[in-house]
Amino acid sequence: MLTQQDGHGRASGIRGRVAELCYSTGALQPLQRVRSWWQRDLRILAYHRVMPLPDPATFDFDLELISTTPERFRAQMLHVKRHFTPVRLGDVVAAMDQGTALPADAVAITFDDGYDDNYRIAYPILRELGIPATFFVSTGHIDTGKPYGYDWLVHMILLTHAPRLVLPEIGMDVPLPHDRNLRRSLAGTVLKNMKSIGAIQQEAMIARLEKEWQMPSNVRPEACRPMTWDQMREMHAAGFEIGSHGVHHRMLAKLSPERMVEEVRQSKATLDHELGAPATLMSYPVGGDRAFDEGVMHATRDAGFELAVCYICGTNPHPASNRYTLFRLPVERMMGPGWFAAMLALPSLVSYPTVHYGPAPEQVPA
Ligand SMILES: [Zn+2]
Repeated sequence: MLTQQDGHGRASGIRGRVAELCYSTGALQPLQRVRSWWQRDLRILAYHRVMPLPDPATFDFDLELISTTPERFRAQMLHVKRHFTPVRLGDVVAAMDQGTALPADAVAITFDDGYDDNYRIAYPILRELGIPATFFVSTGHIDTGKPYGYDWLVHMILLTHAPRLVLPEIGMDVPLPHDRNLRRSLAGTVLKNMKSIGAIQQEAMIARLEKEWQMPSNVRPEACRPMTWDQMREMHAAGFEIGSHGVHHRMLAKLSPERMVEEVRQSKATLDHELGAPATLMSYPVGGDRAFDEGVMHATRDAGFELAVCYICGTNPHPASNRYTLFRLPVERMMGPGWFAAMLALPSLVSYPTVHYGPAPEQVPA
């Protein structure tokens, strides 16, 4: 797997250069056709935000959540339409239940969190091109319009006037640098470290900083606004799928069993009520291997969800065997067209890596 890219969004490293060469010489599609004779795996693309790349000097939120620009997103969707078979996750559920095979080169498009650029930018492009997609939303943020906690934390670290970042919860006490890029990378370290503590403790830590730094998250800044229920009802009526990404975007495996079950059930009840149709699809918040476990998968199934995706990088050769931990291919903002095409055509060779913290959980039967 690749870990680097150059300034033009090209994948680097030996395999990256091979992939770029395959793309530029037109060899990718023949290779993809050969691969699809013996490998019929479901690819699921994972996006967060789609928006013009902002100036990092003035954008006060997490750049890592920007998956791609509107122009690149359109090009990516045209590529998917031309060379792959877009599928709905609901059709994947039906195929699993009926024991039928998915079409060759099946690709599902998914979005996590529920930022309003999903509605303003991604949805019109998808609708125009006739490509289905699933939007996984954290229902509590849709209800309140409050920014997502991790994004708000990055925002606070970028803007606070406090001299030090003191986080006894995760054993950090460091001076806050003046340089914005250094603050961004410090915020990245905090996000990474805090995901090892309990979900409620994470929230309490963010709430404490809001209070100490007098930066309350109830100001609803336009640059990190969630979608509204009306927007999602419109998308749902147009045939797009809306799934659960929890209520408060909590790491489900980092909650007590009672709270975890409540979070899963409540997100479904809210979606069912607001959209007037049963929600059947789940994306575990954060989604890495610290964010879900066997208990979470059981609770998801028992609440009535029929499929769940995680944020571990990979494709799904036999989706029925991991229907509550379907792997995805994250799309990152530095991916150029060659890298994107190569990732889809030859995913095991060229894909964005995810960090593993522990062994894979046991699978849960349907
Ligand atoms: Zn998320």
